[in-house]
Amino acid sequence: METNKTYNTRYREKNREALNIKQRLKKREIMADLRERVFQVYGRRCEHCGKTYEKVLTLDHVQNDGAKDRIKNGIRQNSATTYREAAENYQPAKFQILCIDCNWCKGIHGHLPDLDEYQPYGSVQLSEKLN
Ligand SMILES: [Zn+2]
Repeated sequence: METNKTYNTRYREKNREALNIKQRLKKREIMADLRERVFQVYGRRCEHCGKTYEKVLTLDHVQNDGAKDRIKNGIRQNSATTYREAAENYQPAKFQILCIDCNWCKGIHGHLPDLDEYQPYGSVQLSEKLN
């Protein structure tokens, strides 16, 4: 008679690819839900440049302590944990919404983009593109 453990191991091996896809989709669904909750709490626009396209919006650690913040009890947490923490407890001194451009500039260059030089919506207006 096959034990449950043996059956489960065999089942996982046989269906590994389908189970991985299912798990990936579930994670994506969880992150989409957490992002939505974060946007409801912090807003849906970049705090710096005002961009509102949700697919490029990120959750930023205001004090640049994200790496340190993700270590809890010596264990590195994933981004879902950070999003959950931000969504469950509004902490505007700790978290803000930035677009990926502003967040990247802050992380790489140590400052937010100069809005006189940086044109978040591009220099060509949509009406010009359509002509
Ligand atoms: Zn921005």
